Amino acid sequence: MKGPVLTWAMLPAVLLFAGFSDTKHRNSSSAIEVANDPANWLMYGRTYDDQRFSPLNQINEQTVANLGLVWSQELDTTRGLEATPIVEDGVIYTTGSWNVVYAMDAKTGKMLWQYDPAIDRSRAYFLCCDAVNRGVALYRDKLYEGTLDGRLIALDKRAGTVLWSTQTTDVTQAYSITGAPRIAKGMVVIGNAGAEYGVRGYISAYDAETGKMAWRFYTVPGDPAHGFENKDVARAAKTWTGDKWKNGGGGPPWDSIAYDPALDLLYFGTGNATAWYRALRGGGDNLYTACIVAVHASTGELAWYFQPTPGDNWDYDATQMLMQADLKIGGRVRNVLMQANKNGFFYVLDRKTGEFISGAPFVSGITWATRLDSKSGRPIEIPGIGGAEPTLISPDPFGAHNWYPMAFHPATGLVYVPAKTGGQMVHMPNSKWKYDLNAQNKGLDDSYDGALYAKAAAMPAETGELLAWNPVTQKEAWHANSPVVETGGVLSTGGNLIFQGRADGMLVAYRATDGKQLWQFDAGTGIMAPPVTYTVNGVQYVTVMAGWGGGPGLFNAPGSGPVKPGYGRILTFAIGGQAKLKVLPFGPQGPPPMPQLTYDSSPQLVHRGAQIFNSSCMLCHGLNAVGGSLPDLRYSSKDMIESLDQILLDGVFAPVGMPSYKKILNAQDVKALQAYIVARARESATASPDKPKP
Ligand code: CA
Repeated sequence: MKGPVLTWAMLPAVLLFAGFSDTKHRNSSSAIEVANDPANWLMYGRTYDDQRFSPLNQINEQTVANLGLVWSQELDTTRGLEATPIVEDGVIYTTGSWNVVYAMDAKTGKMLWQYDPAIDRSRAYFLCCDAVNRGVALYRDKLYEGTLDGRLIALDKRAGTVLWSTQTTDVTQAYSITGAPRIAKGMVVIGNAGAEYGVRGYISAYDAETGKMAWRFYTVPGDPAHGFENKDVARAAKTWTGDKWKNGGGGPPWDSIAYDPALDLLYFGTGNATAWYRALRGGGDNLYTACIVAVHASTGELAWYFQPTPGDNWDYDATQMLMQADLKIGGRVRNVLMQANKNGFFYVLDRKTGEFISGAPFVSGITWATRLDSKSGRPIEIPGIGGAEPTLISPDPFGAHNWYPMAFHPATGLVYVPAKTGGQMVHMPNSKWKYDLNAQNKGLDDSYDGALYAKAAAMPAETGELLAWNPVTQKEAWHANSPVVETGGVLSTGGNLIFQGRADGMLVAYRATDGKQLWQFDAGTGIMAPPVTYTVNGVQYVTVMAGWGGGPGLFNAPGSGPVKPGYGRILTFAIGGQAKLKVLPFGPQGPPPMPQLTYDSSPQLVHRGAQIFNSSCMLCHGLNAVGGSLPDLRYSSKDMIESLDQILLDGVFAPVGMPSYKKILNAQDVKALQAYIVARARESATASPDKPKP
């Protein structure tokens, strides 16, 4: 899109059409209801509408060239950092690895207090995608955090002391919480995660003052013998086959939650069903999995639902950010809810009714559906694609867009999406799959090594971009290509700027109108988290957390570009900032040493080790054992490899986050893994050093 460069001064004229209302959310008396004060960033998406737009314009397209680092603070982690910092009156509240909460002075970075909820590190066993968390919620004098072990904790925002704590989940099940709580009507709302491990998803609201539960909405049916909790769960049960509720069901709301105070509706997205594959669940739409759900905030009763991927077969969670806006569509203003779904389609819904307004693919190369039905929005699947046969599917389970928050700019009317094109996954349902609490329950056949892998390898490499999408016309306005596949959360500002970090550690400012890159800063470590902006004493700051990990970071797929694992930190910028960032070197340099071990390296044993690695180790220690943020096992010492039985069966490293696998692995499996790791080290040690890491 080319056109006149818009400035903040021109905004009032376009606001009428974009539906930006500076006052509509100020309807009661607390800090959260004045969230539109741009000096602070009080909510996950800054305002209830989750637009991640700040009208601040001291940093703008003219001044951004002088944007510089003011301070940075190391956070003692090499894992992923995903939180949105909350900023109030010059104090930043944010979270790091293992749910540590930080309060710091926004001007100086000085740590005011830290709170560590002391998560049992062996809970890592039930985490699909790193020991991450997306931040705290703030309400009046309290902060709220959901933890990896399922607690909801209220802290005194001044002292960081615990005011109340409640267990929101059954600790004998594989539940976790990674999402940020949200505030609605004096309640704290929190979901959970764990579909890959077979949990029954639900969302709950707690009294913000006391921690007493106000309501809970289950997203999938439970045991019919106990009766259904309400008519909406009973309706969902009709869309399931047989007794698949025994597998938990899935559908956990693990990220997006949004509140519309005017309609008193609370929106959330749900994850995949357990198992991933339709053929293993016996068919049906499987409500309310992979679904956008609206409930009445006061009672938790269902208002409406829209299921982007009925009977999901590809891990197409509908948990991506749900953004509200009032858009002029077809000659009238519509109150919409928008989502750039994992499945590759951009949805615009009526947020009062859930009516499908429009939807279109926002990436190319979607191979599971041809289009959406223009009336219902239901995908028209490619015939036969959801069966029991192995298939090659795009987008892959990381999605065309995942949890990385998108942003809206009221002057351009565009939604800025961290998008990804061309990810491929070989899907192969395992007809012998049976639910096992101690294992992942994707239902994937790990023994498949057929021709589809070669086909996938021959496909064009996947690419990442910042996509500027017009939600009214459902067309791209522009996109900025990224040198790395994974691009992080987005911020839009009244300075006609879009800020976004990337997996290569770059924080970039683009012009909102046309995508021209105006500024960048190397944060030293890959960025996933979205930046925020605010003022202290009249000075505008931008703050972002840099920490590479999460699902894609640990999986470490080849061809992802120059990703930068490393030490996690938080950085703050302002015009004229002069601080220098000191980045310590991280990770092994050069190929691994040739292993000094004489193991049984028979091809059969190595092959068996590869299968075990792929099903139990790969998601954290990397595809083909090429590690990133967590240890690259090819560089393991002789002692470490020889101690693998103590690590995997006795759990000697459980206190630092490497759990015991004794429930699913035995001594023979450990031998096979040793053989595989040594074989991978040998292959890599003999590879030419001037080639990229294999
Ligand atoms: Ca999922």
